Amino acid sequence: MNPCQDRLIDNYNRKLNYLRVSITDRCNLKCMYCMPKTRTWKLEHSDILRYEEILRIVEIGVKLGISKIRVTGGEPLVRKGVGHFLKQLSVINKIEDISLTTNGIFLKNYMDTILDARISRINISLDSLEREKFKMITGKDAFDRVWEAVMTALDKGFDPIKINVVALKGINEDELTDFAKLSFDYPFHIRFIEHMPFKNVKIETGHGLLAPEIIKKISRLGTLESVENHQKDGPAARYKFKGAKGEIGIISPISHHFCDRCNRLRLTADGQLRPCLLSNFQKDLKTCSRTGGSDEQIKELFLEAVAGKGFEHQITANPDSNRIDTLMSAIGG
Ligand code: SAM
Ligand code: SF4
Repeated sequence: MNPCQDRLIDNYNRKLNYLRVSITDRCNLKCMYCMPKTRTWKLEHSDILRYEEILRIVEIGVKLGISKIRVTGGEPLVRKGVGHFLKQLSVINKIEDISLTTNGIFLKNYMDTILDARISRINISLDSLEREKFKMITGKDAFDRVWEAVMTALDKGFDPIKINVVALKGINEDELTDFAKLSFDYPFHIRFIEHMPFKNVKIETGHGLLAPEIIKKISRLGTLESVENHQKDGPAARYKFKGAKGEIGIISPISHHFCDRCNRLRLTADGQLRPCLLSNFQKDLKTCSRTGGSDEQIKELFLEAVAGKGFEHQITANPDSNRIDTLMSAIGG
């Protein structure tokens, strides 16, 4: 057998070693860019992969070359048993890096468990530093709680703490410099994300700001110096203000997509393996696993997903461009 067939290397010679795992499509917030206002459907419990199914798939992925895992959702910390799951995940051999993305609402309750599972890299999503606006964006009056979680995470030694901010025209654009300022006083990585259009979620009062506009706005604070990317880094372009403790990251899936260096696969909450966030192409691992599929068969599906990974996505900033028809909360972002 060609040795390349046994590894997760796609047709464009990209090595896919990073698996993002959405463990639930449920969430305790309703961010305006992520959840439809009137969400009338959710995955049935029986459609969501059980933890042991996820762990089996991860182990197979690791044998094929996955070495980096991110746990996400929906909100991962709303799923019962998540602490035990994280511990089981952390003892799988050969995973070099496990990280978690959360909205921070339940983070305080889980910090020790997360650290016990040797997970110190967390991303916390926070789109406003103003209580009322936070409520408007997320549907919940919980800014104080999330901010407290951010500060507690800092005290507990999480490193890095990345703060994800989706930059929205007319909504939080007036706060982008406030977010960027945080990087002077705290070692946070403030990551501005371009909004991606999803079919079932239409933002009425604004649309995404693109990277050049974001950079222009925050450059008022000083000169942004480039920071070299490391192997563990994702697609963020990294910068730092002179003298700042933290960093700025710009994630620009729309204006400068980073498809040429994409190393990601995604496992959705309902067990679909997607080689691209912004494409509907996926392979059904759940059915294979639940109908007695062998590890070898699941491995074949991994390879088929990899072989079907397109060179680049076709989404543009135009809100009517090819929107994605699955919800972000099920794919995991
Ligand atoms: N609930 C967790 C959270 O909010 O961090 C994890 C899941 S959430 C889907 C993961 C990331 O996707 C978040 O940082 C969120 O801001 C981002 N996200 C969701 N919808 C998005 C969209 N339409 N465009 C850009 N980023 C989006
Ligand atoms: Fe929930 Fe995260 Fe989506 Fe907000 S971005 S609705 S917190 S899944």
